[in-house]
Amino acid sequence: MLISQETLNEIKTAILAKTPPSADITEIEFEGPEVAVYSRNPQILVDNGELVKNLAKDLRKRIVIRSDPSVRKDQTKATNLVKDLVPEEAEISSIQFDPNIGEILIEAVKPGLVIGKNGATLRKITSETFWRPNVSRAPPLESRIIKTVRDILFKNSEERKKILRKVGRRIHRKQMFPTEWVRVTSLGGYREVGRSATLLRTPESSILIDCGVNVGRNTTKDMFPRLDTLEFSIVNLDAVVITHAHLDHCGFLPYLYKYGYEGPVYTTKATSNLMTLLQIDYLDVAKKEGKMLPYASKDVRDLVLHTIPLSYGEVTDISPDVRLTLHNAGHILGSAIVHLHIGNGLYNLAIAQDFKYRHTNLLDPAVSKFPRLEALFMESTYGNPQDVMPTNKEAETHLMEIISTTLNRGGKVLVPVLAVGRAQELQIVLESLMAKGMIPKVPIYLDGMISEATAVTTCHPEYLSRKLREKIFHVGQNPFLAECFHKVEGRDERAKIILGDPCIILATSGMMTGGPSVEYFDKLSGGAKNSLIFVSYQGEGSLGRKVQKNVNEITVMEKGHARVLKIEMEIHTVIGFSGHSDRRELLNYARKATPRPEKLFLIHGEKSKCISLASTLHKMLKIETKAPDVLETIRLV
Ligand SMILES: [Zn+2]
Repeated sequence: MLISQETLNEIKTAILAKTPPSADITEIEFEGPEVAVYSRNPQILVDNGELVKNLAKDLRKRIVIRSDPSVRKDQTKATNLVKDLVPEEAEISSIQFDPNIGEILIEAVKPGLVIGKNGATLRKITSETFWRPNVSRAPPLESRIIKTVRDILFKNSEERKKILRKVGRRIHRKQMFPTEWVRVTSLGGYREVGRSATLLRTPESSILIDCGVNVGRNTTKDMFPRLDTLEFSIVNLDAVVITHAHLDHCGFLPYLYKYGYEGPVYTTKATSNLMTLLQIDYLDVAKKEGKMLPYASKDVRDLVLHTIPLSYGEVTDISPDVRLTLHNAGHILGSAIVHLHIGNGLYNLAIAQDFKYRHTNLLDPAVSKFPRLEALFMESTYGNPQDVMPTNKEAETHLMEIISTTLNRGGKVLVPVLAVGRAQELQIVLESLMAKGMIPKVPIYLDGMISEATAVTTCHPEYLSRKLREKIFHVGQNPFLAECFHKVEGRDERAKIILGDPCIILATSGMMTGGPSVEYFDKLSGGAKNSLIFVSYQGEGSLGRKVQKNVNEITVMEKGHARVLKIEMEIHTVIGFSGHSDRRELLNYARKATPRPEKLFLIHGEKSKCISLASTLHKMLKIETKAPDVLETIRLV
């Protein structure tokens, strides 16, 4: 690997030439994609925002100002100063120090009050304590995973600093080969759903977008991305970008660390938290079922330490000739469309993996406008002409009717649901129907990982739709905190719920491949008053798919013995709650993508759907379209 001392020296010279000597700069180093400037008099630089802004513009780098350790106030004094400066109504819940980078981590119920008007309070904290404040929101619901991630980062902050320096030096290395070609190799999730992975290469750089598993498959050949191709080399890999936290996009990622990858992963903060949750759960489930474990929890920890969170719209250099921007994808919390700007304007492409081009209760629709766009890769999950979903209103009405009828006749409603995404969408719908009196007021139980995923959601309201944020912050109503929701703590409570009064149960897993949804189904399926409602796709071979076919009985395996389960409960499927775009939305998205791309690649869908969509879009837009297969390499330039 090339270490760029040369570039760093040039940056140092430029910064020292343009800053006043009184700033007393002691060190300049890379910190991931940013340049950190350590100073004994940081106030001069902080106060002079224009100076730093211009420097960043000249150097085309993001600059972060940090204090030299010798001038920082001692931690007790700094804590007291923060408490004096921040109004009590901010409800600070914790203050921690990271001496490695001179940051004071302030967690508060109302972070806006710690920041102050236009950042005024933050600047005061910096000028009086000489620590750089890093403010976060105290989770309104306790989240185990956010605590775990923060602990990993905090306890290993020295290692993290070293990692960021190394990453920074690699990003800012002098370019060795001119960007004369751009190639994309499909490693997984092409003409199929699952194990998404796309490799982008230029003569200089190698970038992997997504690294998923296909949880429905059992052999290495079709479960994991085809990293065995010669195009892929772990030592040459510059960066990994993750679109969202579902396992078919990030489930295989820790494996890279197990096999020696030492580079960064770029994704949103919400995705980082959610994917850690899902990867740890993936390991737990695989262990319990005696399945092969492709990596260990240590590799998940390494991944956390190498993750660089980005906000939507933040433009970041990830290698000498590739610049990355993430945009809202509208699919699940923190999901992103990946935009890559290659070779200083030579080529631009966007990868729209799972996305929703419609307002949902949870999120705003996917972004379709980019500064430049030559090629667009987009999903085709619902790419067949018959894949048209009802409107949100129609779906909600259908759901409401089934729930009301079931509850009014004294039955229970079971909804098997994915923990991340659909569960929160349903929570909002159910809370609203109940508040409006459109369904009876009964407890709504959340079982499995749902409440943890909801806690993460409440911690990242910045990713939610404008309408929902408005409700949470301006009206002061957070639907996730409504009284109707109850977290199920374990087996005993589950047993009580099964015997108890009418209620609604949201439980994982979504396809009833394991977890509490199967346990509830086992006990509730014999009751004719009860209803089961499917709201998401049921994969081939899953228990959910079998039950959905409206059979009268089903054979379940228990400790090696077959048992016949009579199904008396009503089985319903309500469509329209998907986080994916339906056929109409996919066509609309391709039509409205701005600027219009020259090439369109249809990915992430069954073979027939990718091909059907490619053919329709070719006729409609008169541009080159293609549905590549796994292991194809496409030359874009
Ligand atoms: Zn997804």
